[in-house]
Amino acid sequence: MPDGQGGIELAQVGHSTIDFQQIGERAKDFGISLDHKALKALNTIRNDMEHHYTSESATAIRAAISKGFPVVASLFRQMEEDPVALLGEAWTTMLETKELYDQELREARATLEKIRWRSSSIMAEVIKCGDCQSELVEQVEPENESQDYAQLRCKTCGQDVDVADAIEQAIEKAHGAEAYVRYKDAFEDGPIYQCPVCGRSTLLEGEDGCANCGEALDFNAECFRCGAGISIQDYLDGLDEGLCSYCSHMQEKILRED
Ligand SMILES: [Zn+2]
Ligand SMILES: [Zn+2]
Ligand SMILES: [Zn+2]
Repeated sequence: MPDGQGGIELAQVGHSTIDFQQIGERAKDFGISLDHKALKALNTIRNDMEHHYTSESATAIRAAISKGFPVVASLFRQMEEDPVALLGEAWTTMLETKELYDQELREARATLEKIRWRSSSIMAEVIKCGDCQSELVEQVEPENESQDYAQLRCKTCGQDVDVADAIEQAIEKAHGAEAYVRYKDAFEDGPIYQCPVCGRSTLLEGEDGCANCGEALDFNAECFRCGAGISIQDYLDGLDEGLCSYCSHMQEKILRED
């Protein structure tokens, strides 16, 4: 790896090294299509390996090879070259590594299958380790069905995975971009809210309750005085008591003037 930078740097061009962003553009210039999702996943693993691992974990390396494999295979296909002829044993090792990793992943996810998650946006595929971001997370007691009693462990770094952390992270990953856009474009809240009971950002608009603790999100969405909609944030702020923010403001004013 050049200059100890590690990871996805293809070649030195002029004075500058091609960075992750440029790989995609460069490939496009050559008329080669690259799987951007797979590349992104690879880059994440690369960064995690740089920042989180003191000694390289065998599982993390297997994950990197496994994610990289389809990208490499696709490049060979597009170049109409035979990877077995060009890479020989290295190709066979990569293939075996990918199969081993996929098997490990299937086994780990199978242990999560029985858990009845409170939120429909949570499933085995979105559970990750908060420490090392590995998706190889298993349930210690695979027969357990309750989210409250689930004990999760990361097979890559060996740490216990906090269920609330994993849920919060999964919701942020799935809906964080929308929350950002809403706030940026219209100073609007949502769709993720902080639960008043457990304090986690696990209340999701459109769901019946908190994905973490189950606190119900049931409130009157219409102001009883004017019929205007009451926002979830106003409800959570305790503003409403059945009134919209305008009416509760007016009521306060009237009370003050009395
Ligand atoms: Zn981990
Ligand atoms: Zn909660
Ligand atoms: Zn009102």
